[in-house]
Amino acid sequence: MIRNYGEVMPSRARVLVVALTAAVSLAACTASVVGDGAALRTAAEPAPRTEPSPDQAGSGCPDPRAEPAADRPRIDLEFTLSDDGRTVTGTERVSFTPDRPVDELVFRLTANQPLSVTGGNGIEVGDVSGADVRDFDFESAGAAPGTQGGLLVVRLDRSLPAGGTTDVTIDFELRLGESTFDRFGADDRLSWWGSGHPLLAWEPGVGWADEPLGDSPGETAASPVAETRVQVTAPAGREVVMTGGARRVASAGAADVWRSEETAARDVAVAVGSLDVAAADAGDTRVTLAGRSGLDIETLLSRTIEAIGELEAFFGPFPYSTLSVVDLGARGGGVEYPSMILLADPSDLVLVHEIAHMWFYGMVGDHQGRDPWLDEAFATYAEALVNGPPADLDGRLGLPLPVGQPIDDFSTVDDYFDTVYGKGSAMLLAARAVAGTDAFDAALRCYVDALAWQIATPADVAAAFAELPAALRVLQDAGALPR
Ligand SMILES: [Zn+2]
Repeated sequence: MIRNYGEVMPSRARVLVVALTAAVSLAACTASVVGDGAALRTAAEPAPRTEPSPDQAGSGCPDPRAEPAADRPRIDLEFTLSDDGRTVTGTERVSFTPDRPVDELVFRLTANQPLSVTGGNGIEVGDVSGADVRDFDFESAGAAPGTQGGLLVVRLDRSLPAGGTTDVTIDFELRLGESTFDRFGADDRLSWWGSGHPLLAWEPGVGWADEPLGDSPGETAASPVAETRVQVTAPAGREVVMTGGARRVASAGAADVWRSEETAARDVAVAVGSLDVAAADAGDTRVTLAGRSGLDIETLLSRTIEAIGELEAFFGPFPYSTLSVVDLGARGGGVEYPSMILLADPSDLVLVHEIAHMWFYGMVGDHQGRDPWLDEAFATYAEALVNGPPADLDGRLGLPLPVGQPIDDFSTVDDYFDTVYGKGSAMLLAARAVAGTDAFDAALRCYVDALAWQIATPADVAAAFAELPAALRVLQDAGALPR
């Protein structure tokens, strides 16, 4: 299988874990894990919204596209990479304004998931401070034995009301292990990390996404978009590419300092290395391709720019002012991050899929464990729009399992990929055919613009296609939406 896949290892689906561990050619694409039904820490209802988002009501078609919430978190990250490229010392400053009361903050320690730790990766939190911080602790949450755990829980000495703001600073150290197809890795020429900092696990309107990490390198969580600034101090003379672009702002002897900003990022990825770099503009987006010598980055750069244009024709303007793509050398697929792609397979299939994730995951977020089809079915559908539909469309559509299942309801890795990616994309193509391409494309464009920078739910998709009953029936028949 060469299509990139997001893997998510549900704690209950051990068969899936084993299968994925063995499936070395699988690509990770945003993954996430849902555990045993979202044991939320606030007074939040654990169930996802059943009503469409406010801006999806009525006409449901904002013009221009919805803006990120004004009270979104602000996150400042400082990473310092060691000379040997294997250790990242970090500080994270979070300014958080919840939309419902909380008395603690929860962060996911993604690098402590078992498969990543097996590869030599891991994260250790040092100090946590802030005016409202009472203390902090860790929960195992499926993390590898011997680590601090999978969740960092920061308890406050007061109940923070909805609309209140608290500031927390976290010091941590991230170990980068082998160069494999994972979100973390290093070799003599390249170091990279995504979800390398404690990830604020807040789902606006719902609560903390504190499900177990799972066993997959592809694990991610639901996280809100944040006003994000990144500073990387790296050994002098190396190139840096990262979420938000990267500019060298200072040289301090043996080290260079790089910075970037991203106005609405759910997460951050960084790559540092001895790399060839090429850059060009795709409209208002600065596109950067980085890879080892010998890789044809100019051709990849041209294709990336071309694919951005092809996808914009369907989904509207590219969500970010930068896009950075780094070829890892390791092979397996791709992992998408906001305005950044970790590429472990430079094929067109993977490249287009990952670029499509900038709209479906980066901008229109989802809880990828609970509703994995909301990013993976749409990204795979986007592949078909650009490169043509797969030959076995009818066969995919006839697969028995419901597209809308949470990841941990699938008992095998093949069932998950075949259903969420294969059947899910075939379902969307079939819905487009019965609704008429113009009407379907317009409704989907409305959905993208209305749910921009939020975490969408299946109810939002149902609302978007409410005026296209034939399309809605296709999605219901495929088990993506309830009848
Ligand atoms: Zn994907």
